[in-house]
Parts: sequence; C-alpha cells; structure tokens
Amino acid sequence: MKAEEVFASLTQFQHALAAHFDWLHKWYQAVLHRNGGSQLPPTDTELCPFDQWYKSAAGSVFADFPGFAVLGGEHAEVHEKATQISQRAQAGQTVTTSDYETLMASVLAFGSTAQALEREVWKALATVDPLTGLANRQSMRSQLTGERDRAIRQRQPLSLALADIDHFKKINDKYGHAEGDNVLRAVAGALRHTVRPYDIVYRYGGEEFLICLPGTNLATGTQALERIRTAIEALALTDHKGNPIPVTATFGLTEVTADLSVDDAIEQADKALYDGKRQGRNRIVVYPEA
Ligand code: GH3
Ligand code: MG
Ligand code: MG
Repeated sequence: MKAEEVFASLTQFQHALAAHFDWLHKWYQAVLHRNGGSQLPPTDTELCPFDQWYKSAAGSVFADFPGFAVLGGEHAEVHEKATQISQRAQAGQTVTTSDYETLMASVLAFGSTAQALEREVWKALATVDPLTGLANRQSMRSQLTGERDRAIRQRQPLSLALADIDHFKKINDKYGHAEGDNVLRAVAGALRHTVRPYDIVYRYGGEEFLICLPGTNLATGTQALERIRTAIEALALTDHKGNPIPVTATFGLTEVTADLSVDDAIEQADKALYDGKRQGRNRIVVYPEA
C-alpha cells in the first residue's frame, strides 16, 4: 500500500461524496420549491460524480474494505428513492412524509457507511510507513502475537529476524540524507520483492527492519535471509552523479517458540544481529549461536 496513492484516493473520495450531497441538496430544493410542470434535476445514479469515483476505485485500496461493496448499493438506493419522488412529483401526485422518510433513511445509511469506510482507510494508512511503504510498528506487536499463537496451535515453526543496514550513518554522511532515504526505499523494495508472500516485513526503526517468517525454522529461515542479503548486496545503487553506493545489511535470526514471548524473541534476534555486526557485518547470525 502506497501512502501517497491512498492520500490521493481519499481526496477524490471526499470530493465525490461532497458532489453527491451537493446534487442531493439541489434536487431536494427543486422538489420543495417546484412550481407547475418545471423539470427537476436528473436523479440517475450514473450521472452522479460519486458513481464515477466508485467505478474508478474498484481496484484501489478502498475496494479491500467490506464497506466498499455496501456503499455502492446504498448510493444507488438514494438515487432510486429520489427517482421515485421525482416521478410522483412530476406526475402531479403528492409526495408524502413517508416518501421523504424512506429517502432520508437511505441517505443516512449511505452517509454512515461512507464515514465508517473513510475511518477504516485512515486506520490502515496509520499502519504504513510513508517513506518505504512497509508496515510500521503500529500493529506489529499484535500481529506478531497472532502469528505466534497460530504457529503454536498449528504446530508449525515460526522465525523472526531483525535486519540492519551496515554503516548507514556513513552513507548519509557521504551521499547526503536524501540519498540515504533512497537507499532505505531501495532496501525496503528488495526486502518486499525477495520475501515469500506470507512473510511480513516491518520498518522497525530508522534503518532496521523486522521480518516475520511463518512456517519457517532456523535452517529455512537462514536460506530465506541469505536470498535477501544477496539481493541487497546486488542492488547496485548510484548517487545523482552516478557514483556507486555500496549497500549491505546484517541479519539476526531466531525461532519463536511456545516458551518465548514476542518481546523475548525480538531481543534474541537483536543479540544475534549485534553479534553479526561485531563479526564484520553483511552476514546472518542465528540465535543461539552454535
Ligand atoms: P552499523 O553498521 O553498526 O549499523 O552502523 P550504522 O551507521 O548503520 O548505525 P547507526 O544505528 O549508528 O546509524 C543509523 C543511522 O540511520 C543514524 C540515522 O541518522 C540514520 N537514519 C535513521 N532514520 C533515517 C531516515 O529515515 N533517513 C535517513 N536518511 N537516515 C536515517
Ligand atoms: Mg541501526
Ligand atoms: Mg545500521
């Protein structure tokens, strides 16, 4: 999930909502103050800017939330109810209080679903690190605890690793903070593309990443990390002048067991990582060391 894209979608969503309510207001005014055979504003769902947004958002993050599907139906219902009222008014029939109340009920339902959906999207946004697009620490602990419980229940191994970019301070000092940020983005990309689909990568700190490896023991975990380590080493980054920026990272790996809390496991991974730094960096160290 790319934070900038979600922000852009949120803005479009808010505009689309405003446009829908704007139409509703104008139409309602026209119905109230109608004289004789004057025409009412069209009520077709397809003419509403909200419907255009809704169709365009089908592949976006919005569509991942259950409220999205509901919202489309509720929007169409508001327009249907308005169409019924328009038709009655146009045919010279009286529009009753109960007609208005059914319309109002669907307007309220639509409004509250829209609000709930927006809240969900904001909440999801809060769990994403804007620089790298990786998950941040916001919901890390609860997710890791969930993975640990599941591993114990299903008698599956679970491993956890900390990765830390080597001499990152020097990279910042030599190439500048902006290039440092590019390195962080590139390393995050390498991590994301090298892990398996069910692994989770978090930006744990400044230039530190936590990798959760479900169904993985220390042996397969070491292989997985070796692929990541090689991918980072092979990045071949350059600064804006074309000078190469060599990047490597060090990894500490541990297995999460039933007698170990998530915090304990992170601490063990951190110890292994520290040992890896002492041993010369750009390597994987397993806790406990053989
Ligand atoms: P080591 O190999 O021992 O890990 O050395 P190091 O220099 O990487 O270690 P240290 O933890 O001392 O330095 C981390 C640096 O990362 C310090 C901090 O300024 C930088 N940093 C943290 N967050 C960011 C960020 O978001 N962008 C950039 N450009 N730098 C960051
Ligand atoms: Mg560090
Ligand atoms: Mg470092």
